Amino acid sequence: MAQEGAAQKAPGARRGTALITGAASGIGKATAIRLAKDGWNVHICDVDKASVKSFREDVPNVTAWMCDVSDPDQVKDVISGVMAQHGQLDVLINNAGIAGCTASIEDVPQDDWRQTIDVNINGAFYFLREAVPGMKQRRGGAIINIASTAALFGYPQRTAYAASKWAMIGMTKTLAMELGPFNIRVNAVCPGSVAGPRIDGVIERDAERRGISAAEVRRIYEGQVSMRKFVTVEDIAAMCAFLCSSDAALVSGQVIAVDGHTESLSFPF
Ligand code: NAD
Repeated sequence: MAQEGAAQKAPGARRGTALITGAASGIGKATAIRLAKDGWNVHICDVDKASVKSFREDVPNVTAWMCDVSDPDQVKDVISGVMAQHGQLDVLINNAGIAGCTASIEDVPQDDWRQTIDVNINGAFYFLREAVPGMKQRRGGAIINIASTAALFGYPQRTAYAASKWAMIGMTKTLAMELGPFNIRVNAVCPGSVAGPRIDGVIERDAERRGISAAEVRRIYEGQVSMRKFVTVEDIAAMCAFLCSSDAALVSGQVIAVDGHTESLSFPF
């Protein structure tokens, strides 16, 4: 059985094989570290050469592939490489994503729109297309699509991003129905604003614009989160670890926000 829980594992046995896309940094990297710690054989891929290089140094127990998820041939090569090593893929986490430009709809450049859709949604499709046949054959697997609370609430000036993430939710719901009979679970995780350099930069810029301190802006932003703090990459990784474990054996088709509970996304990104 692919998704063994810790309690059922023989000592030293691996849980199976997991692949995380766009995982040389951020949420994907934290998830790779967590899954490796939980006993999975973990593979990641990423398009950014420098990030892949430092990932290999930081996380030597995880295999890192260079891959642009928007190139179907490169996607095929990664899946073939993982299959050649392990014979099967048990977990696919479609995490690679870009934010696209920040612009009013009439100013969004054609190329920017296309690239955002290409990476965020077409990339997930290419991986699913390659990974699902093996899962179907073995009658088991877990798929996690990393969407965003931006899809749930909307995200002014980031139409392509929000649209692509909403598309991932549609894909999740549909595939949960389609693949459930094959014992393949499909869920979406929607991170809220994740603590780290990106939000710190936004806070700094907004503080300058408003003429108040960064600490005050942070307090205002965190005040919009019911739990009064931003989530961390480890919080997202923990949800992914749960969703691919046997503890989530009957959890499928769900869209789970990990965001400390927010009713809307109103930070000026
Ligand atoms: P990040 O920028 O740290 O990581 C994204 C990774 O994807 C990078 O390493 C990047 O090189 C890689 N990538 C970009 N284009 C790629 C391509 N064409 N092929 C392969 N890899 C590619 O961002 P993150 O915050 O860790 O985001 C991970 C996912 O979570 C994304 O899908 C993002 O949209 C989503 N998300 C993030 C937040 C947040 O606040 N950080 C909130 C909601 C959703």
